[in-house]
Amino acid sequence: MDKLAVLKEYFGHDSFREGQSDLIDHILGGCDVLGIMPTGAGKSLCYQVPALMLKGVTIVISPLISLMKDQVSALVTAGVSAACINSSLTQEEYADTMHRACRGEYSLIYIAPERLGTQEMERLASSLDVAMVTIDEAHCVSQWGQDFRPSYLHISEFIAALPRRPIVSAFTATATDTVRDDIVRLLGLRDPFSLVTGFDRPNLYFSVIKPQNKYTELRRLLNSMGDKCGIVYCLSRRNVEEVCEKLNADGFSATRYHAGLPDSERRMNQDDFIYDRKRIMVATNAFGMGIDKSDVAFVIHYNMPKNIESYYQEAGRAGRDGSPAQCILLYGASDVRTNTFMIERSREDNTALSDEEKDTMLERDKERLKEMTFYSTTSGCLREFMLGYFGEKAPSYCGNCSNCVNGFEEVDITIDAQKIVSCVFRIKQKGQYFGKTMVIDILRGSENERLMSFGFNKLSTYGIMNDVSAKKIRAELDHLISGGYLAFTEGEYPVVELTPLSAKIVKERIPVKMNLPKEKTPSGKRRADDSFYSDNPLFMELKKLRNRLASEANVPAYIVFSDAALRDMCRIRPTTREQFLTVSGVGKRKAEQYGEAFCTLIKEHISSHPEEETAPEGEVSPLQLQLDSLRELVSTKRSVSPRAWSDREEHELAEEFAQGKAIAEIAQLHRRTVGSIRSRLKKMGIIG
Ligand code: ADP
Ligand code: ZN
Repeated sequence: MDKLAVLKEYFGHDSFREGQSDLIDHILGGCDVLGIMPTGAGKSLCYQVPALMLKGVTIVISPLISLMKDQVSALVTAGVSAACINSSLTQEEYADTMHRACRGEYSLIYIAPERLGTQEMERLASSLDVAMVTIDEAHCVSQWGQDFRPSYLHISEFIAALPRRPIVSAFTATATDTVRDDIVRLLGLRDPFSLVTGFDRPNLYFSVIKPQNKYTELRRLLNSMGDKCGIVYCLSRRNVEEVCEKLNADGFSATRYHAGLPDSERRMNQDDFIYDRKRIMVATNAFGMGIDKSDVAFVIHYNMPKNIESYYQEAGRAGRDGSPAQCILLYGASDVRTNTFMIERSREDNTALSDEEKDTMLERDKERLKEMTFYSTTSGCLREFMLGYFGEKAPSYCGNCSNCVNGFEEVDITIDAQKIVSCVFRIKQKGQYFGKTMVIDILRGSENERLMSFGFNKLSTYGIMNDVSAKKIRAELDHLISGGYLAFTEGEYPVVELTPLSAKIVKERIPVKMNLPKEKTPSGKRRADDSFYSDNPLFMELKKLRNRLASEANVPAYIVFSDAALRDMCRIRPTTREQFLTVSGVGKRKAEQYGEAFCTLIKEHISSHPEEETAPEGEVSPLQLQLDSLRELVSTKRSVSPRAWSDREEHELAEEFAQGKAIAEIAQLHRRTVGSIRSRLKKMGIIG
């Protein structure tokens, strides 16, 4: 079987994603590889597909037991023979697994790094024919990474002790040079083929909100998410407890996770979230590494994290199945202080490093925090900023982030202007002058006492703008004042007055335009399609069936089928096994196992709903969605021309950096990518 046939038969996909083919080919050619791909890009397939094709077993080293359990049950469901060896096995299970392993029954064995040094493992390793050792989350080997695990340092000894040297493949989502170098060196990769795929995740909508009150905003957001599931990240354990408690009191289905909880509770809460018994997971960054729940629809950061690497990794846990998903950051200025404090404290706590190393680390952490802060406050495209940080050039407008979507647009306010000016005119006719608030109250038809006592509720302009927000009227009023169509005198009793130009508005009815922020909705098309599914009757039925099958088999729902697969079923409406096999995410084994149940349901549904409309044209498959976004990107691309660096520019660059400006900020000033600024500074010998 070739790799494409393996992909189809076991995993049910028709084509490889960017980078997957290349990595697989190199592995099959006997080469060590290092795959650097963002979360959700599909790293697992890069070693699982060759594992099924190589002679001998593939040993996967993976940092978290929960991840292993998940991956192995997904593989077994897909018809692959796989097992894991970790502390969660009983004595008998362990003995049985070892026995089968020695008989060569498995294609893949997942092992926790902590087991590597044990005698048992050495014996196993010497009796197995190991074709490949794969290291997942390989950045854990580096002290510069965010999740250093000392046990990862034993991996190279383990490999060296094997009777023949296997192919070694390593995967991570962390892209910085230091970590990359550490991985190659500490894992002993031999002349590896390295591949970094694009970091963009077009299905993710990025948004930064600066709310007055974070909790109120969080509640509003969660209400708007319907029954979708997602993660809320907080900085501290205390915050996690607080937010989770409040959410439960407010009737949300939420659970919590942080390092201070007993193991048993953590495991239980995590399972509750994965198995859809709880909709919302409130957690510190201790939660998530290796959590492969593919149907997470949103990741909300209640606090700004300490750097963009962490943010992108955590936010990237949304939308792994390719469906539209939201990544929302609630920013408050105090987040910067908290993070600074935490960075400084972790310097004190870190006893493994020399003073000099500590200082370098501290400086680096502060620089990263600065860039994170800049992301949270920039008015430019958030996606461009983030990709720029990882050294990737992107258009300055993505159309799928809050800054692009909510960017200002020119609005015709001619009618509103007439209403506002007439209102001031009517007040004046009564021989009165008032401030802005009274004008706004009259227009909105407020019933406040003072307004009533003047009899303003009898004015012809009373309540004629009751469908417009006070904020918007105030913005329009300010615009008229700044244009000289009205006057505003400050002082003890600030008042709005008419001017000679006022007549132009009410008598001549001249057109008035102004820039107003757009409404806060993610790009329209995608949202419409999304809601098509959320209340599509067939989709709901398919979901019910999936959930029932999952709970019967005692596996998480997404292991049976992802939402993306269900959406594809809505579109294709397969009623035969052959048609069912064309659904994205359906392989041979799954078709055998579930095909009949789903086809029967779909048949019944079609005959009982003959009039029903099918899925909207355009979006449906994640691939189509990505193509759409790509087209959108290209069509709206405002190109930044790659000019050469002039001497003057270089001089400015050096000066700005010396003044303590963050690299991202400088990039914004020069309209260049963070990567290009960084490499320039490097060339000039200013940074290492
Ligand atoms: P990562 O480990 O990089 O975070 P995963 O390996 O967990 O990502 O894959 C993320 C999701 O993408 C999974 O739901 C997987 O089924 C899906 N996926 C991976 N490769 C493909 C492909 N070639 N076609 C369609 N879906 C894919
Ligand atoms: Zn954007």
